[in-house]
Amino acid sequence: MAQLGLNARPAPPRTRRVPSAALARMGVKVLNRYGLLLECAQCGTRWAPRLIAGWHRPAGYWRCPNRCNW
Ligand SMILES: [Zn+2]
Repeated sequence: MAQLGLNARPAPPRTRRVPSAALARMGVKVLNRYGLLLECAQCGTRWAPRLIAGWHRPAGYWRCPNRCNW
């Protein structure tokens, strides 16, 4: 795993809206809109793509680590 925390950036002035309705359709719940904490509706796994990829969200950031909705 990459080191987290020391290199974490502070929140940007603008936060893009998380399309929670679209995520819900893919079986993902948004637990924390600003922190972008996601939870899989199927297996309950939680992950935070913001911590993984910074504020540049990778394609498929909404995917469950267990591949429930791939
Ligand atoms: Zn899952």
